[in-house]
Amino acid sequence: KEEHLRKPEWLKIKLNTNDQYKGLKKLMRENNLHTVCEEARCPNIHECWGERRTATMMILGSVCTRACRFCAVKTGLPTELDLAEPERVADSVKIMDLKHVVITMVARDDLKDGGAEVLAETIRAIRRKSPATSVEVLPSDLGGTEENLQMVMDAKPDILNHNIETVRRLTPRVRARAKYDRSLEFLRRSKEMQPEIPTKSSLMIGLGETWDEILEVMDDLRANNVDIMTIGQYLQPTKKHLSVKKYYSPLEFGKLRKIAMEKGFSHCEAGPLVRSSYHADEQVNAATKE
Ligand code: SF4
Ligand code: SF4
Repeated sequence: KEEHLRKPEWLKIKLNTNDQYKGLKKLMRENNLHTVCEEARCPNIHECWGERRTATMMILGSVCTRACRFCAVKTGLPTELDLAEPERVADSVKIMDLKHVVITMVARDDLKDGGAEVLAETIRAIRRKSPATSVEVLPSDLGGTEENLQMVMDAKPDILNHNIETVRRLTPRVRARAKYDRSLEFLRRSKEMQPEIPTKSSLMIGLGETWDEILEVMDDLRANNVDIMTIGQYLQPTKKHLSVKKYYSPLEFGKLRKIAMEKGFSHCEAGPLVRSSYHADEQVNAATKE
């Protein structure tokens, strides 16, 4: 039987609901939109939605064709493609008056373009309706083809984010159907296609990786010209998901951040509650001021 680690104090957070948060939740339901903030049970939702005016929206449905073992998104066969979705997302971004929006997606291995066209159109729709909002995209590997990635890069997001998620050795166990090298290649190609667009990647730790393996991920990302890195604690979303092997202390996260900056990232967020899109609004500026 797997031992169950107790949650350390620094992960016990108090929730404070504010009006802004409640209003946004209602808007999401009315427009049939899905946010990662809610689906992934993100601990930062009040800070992001309430104070920072940033949110992570998930497009192309709420059912994923893959079943990564850390992820709380439902697995199954997605419903058909909703071509009105880009406009609905853009309308919501406008009503929410977001400063920064992250657009992510489930993996649509059932579609030839992996969902690239809808993602590109979503970027364009947000630009038309909210030109002041920065747009970060966090796509799946889009089936790994260059053509699909090009479609997204041509729509010129402010940040291209693609998560490496875990160290090389644990990738087959943690990420269904994704490949470590394919993710690196995806990041490298994005940079080649649009060198002025910052690239970003996130790592979750606490899944049984060693300290050296974490540093190896940093080196691999830098070798593929990734500008921004985020490192956060893996939290088990439900009992069916992979269990937590280690809770890293805030001090250890601080060390990792320092090492990452020494390795040449332009920005690194590292902390127990850091998520891919945490403080993303600050990263746009950090990366472009370089
Ligand atoms: Fe949403 Fe990301 Fe903020 Fe979590 S960190 S609430 S997923 S925007
Ligand atoms: Fe979750 Fe993405 Fe994996 Fe789908 S591909 S299960 S959305 S992490």
